[in-house]
Amino acid sequence: MKLSLVVPCFNEEDNVEKFLQEVKNTLKNDIDHEIVFVNDGSTDNTHKVLKQLAEENKNVQVVTFSRNFGKEAAMYAGLSASCGEMVCVIDADLQQHPQVVLEMLEILDNNPDTDCVTAYQKKRREGILMSGIKSVFYKLINGISDVNFVNGASDFRLMRRTMVEAILSMTEYHRFSKGIFSWVGFNTEYIPYEAKKRENGKSKWGVKKLTKYAVEGIMSFSTKPLRFAAYVGFVSSLISVIYMFIVVIQKIFWGIDVPGYATIVGLVLLLGGLQLFCLGVLGEYLAKMYIQVKNRPVYIVKEHIKSDENEN
Ligand code: UDP
Ligand code: MG
Repeated sequence: MKLSLVVPCFNEEDNVEKFLQEVKNTLKNDIDHEIVFVNDGSTDNTHKVLKQLAEENKNVQVVTFSRNFGKEAAMYAGLSASCGEMVCVIDADLQQHPQVVLEMLEILDNNPDTDCVTAYQKKRREGILMSGIKSVFYKLINGISDVNFVNGASDFRLMRRTMVEAILSMTEYHRFSKGIFSWVGFNTEYIPYEAKKRENGKSKWGVKKLTKYAVEGIMSFSTKPLRFAAYVGFVSSLISVIYMFIVVIQKIFWGIDVPGYATIVGLVLLLGGLQLFCLGVLGEYLAKMYIQVKNRPVYIVKEHIKSDENEN
């Protein structure tokens, strides 16, 4: 099998059939391929439609989760069910066109040294505010984390089997794919693509979900926020020693009384706030460790439909 397409689906009943058709039209019979749909606990008719598609098409696998585990988990499950030499992660909503997969394939076929081709959005389909926030986030995360994140690069990428295996070997519970893709290394090439408008349904990414994702990204690939507490503690101690020194000198030489009810209240509040903030950061890491230590599975499969011919 040359190519596997991994397609996470969450409430995509109106898109999956069209998606499959589009893939057929694009890849035709020239490329030996399979499609792994991961039904991430959809609450609409996605499951029914996918089942039907798997019955009609021998090269379609359907992995169904017992509930919604998120796109990260869905990608992980799809990658582990896939068996192609090259694997592409692609959305079900046709924003990412299968035509781009052909371009990616051509690059990997012609460059044996390249292990991965990632598509990034030439022009973002979002407002100035959102793209501004995103570019600040990328600056921040690149500044404080150990791996490199490319602004605009999506999960839409084609990888060789060696890279897929490397990703599968990372079994962490809190998965941040952008970081994982970058952490495993390998030679990656970036190509621009134009994200189409969503065919049907709506995006599942609200501001709240994106913020959570951003915090997750920073915490999964950096422990610098923990060090931040130590730095702040050190600097504030230093400042307070200098301040006390000044106060004593003032008292001895000029007889100035220690002024400042307001200063004291201000400082107590500031330091109290900082302490709580640092405790919060510590708590976040601890919570992540707590969940990881429980060693829960990243996802739970309720049903896996796979044709026998497809078995390897
Ligand atoms: N998705 C998923 N689980 C989720 C949320 C999304 O599997 O909890 C899938 C979704 O069906 C789609 C892809 O991930 O195929 C990208 O989601 P979406 O289109 O909502 O994101 P956007 O394109 O707006 O970034
Ligand atoms: Mg989309």
